[in-house]
Amino acid sequence: MEKQLTSRRLALVPCPFQGHITLMLQLGVILHSKGFDITVAHTDFNFPDPSNYPDFEFLEMSNGFNVNGKSPLQESLARKMEKEDQNSKISCIIYDEYISATNMLTHQAIPTLVKHDHIPIQCNNQTSQIFGIRTYSMMLELVPGLQPLRFKDLPISNFRVLDDLLQLIAKAHDSSLLKEDQSCMSCLDKKAHSSVIYISLGRIAFMDSKELEEMAWGLANSEQPFLWVVRMDSVSLPEGFQEIVGERGHIVKWTPQKKVLTHSAVGGFWSHCGWNLTVEGISEGVPLICQPYFGDQRVNPRYLSQSMGRPIGKAIRTLMVGKEGEPTRQRAKDLKVKIEFSMKQSSSSYNSLNELVDLILSF
Ligand code: UDP
Repeated sequence: MEKQLTSRRLALVPCPFQGHITLMLQLGVILHSKGFDITVAHTDFNFPDPSNYPDFEFLEMSNGFNVNGKSPLQESLARKMEKEDQNSKISCIIYDEYISATNMLTHQAIPTLVKHDHIPIQCNNQTSQIFGIRTYSMMLELVPGLQPLRFKDLPISNFRVLDDLLQLIAKAHDSSLLKEDQSCMSCLDKKAHSSVIYISLGRIAFMDSKELEEMAWGLANSEQPFLWVVRMDSVSLPEGFQEIVGERGHIVKWTPQKKVLTHSAVGGFWSHCGWNLTVEGISEGVPLICQPYFGDQRVNPRYLSQSMGRPIGKAIRTLMVGKEGEPTRQRAKDLKVKIEFSMKQSSSSYNSLNELVDLILSF
């Protein structure tokens, strides 16, 4: 990407979760290539390794609220700007939670839905309150203007604004991004083309032991090779499972996911449909089966794929090798072509990026 002369500094503020951090840093790299200087504001929880981004400045925010009521972000930026000269002042803050397009679309629509009485909302900011007073059949109705979404697909977010999130994470214990287990790549090398189903439910969706057991038997019954990300510290797999799957299955705590998805042995992706996983999967033309948990994970699958059917073993075989799965596999390949096209000069993503740059320069 060509470098333009702008000499403007942007502050990027990702939510401190893997998927958000990855996207924000990718956006930072692109905007840096357009000539912007980049400051990444982060908490001391789940922050990226600054040595991987030597051209960026990293600014730590204190967690939680301050006694004078100012937000940590506001205080950190104000302190930084007081110290610096006019030229290095921040001209724009790019602020996350709405970094995924589908999430943004639905959040924006909620006030209009309320205004037109499509959602009878009580005087409360939490979207979860919306659902308390709808009946189940109302939840299955299509949302006006947001087809194919149903009311039940609307994202529930407790993270209304970043300051709420900072208050929440001040109590968290986890403090590092996970180490990638590279052993899975050599396992994939030994498998046939498009034969492996990859299973990852992202960083923050948790399964209980009953779900783990159901997934394990589904994978065993599918008779397909699999690579399964299980993030639990102590995994207790059902008795007899290891003996049945043998060399066919490989379980790891965390993968180098983008490398996994580009590997020719991977032919299907069972995901929770978090935004990054979804985009990474379709960008590589890998067909998805979705098992959403919360938030935009319920929104994303409505736009592109099929939900996990039962029994799981049969659903996996259909996706990977079955005749009925052929349209899904073809659609994934078509989406990959469309995504590649959208990034070419004068195409939609390319143009949107240039429009963003022009917008920031207009401030
Ligand atoms: N990811 C990874 N290795 C894994 C599982 C996930 O690197 O074993 C990465 C994945 O590539 C994606 C991010 O974690 O970029 C997850 O982001 P997403 O928004 O899909 O899900 P979240 O974890 O935020 O629910």
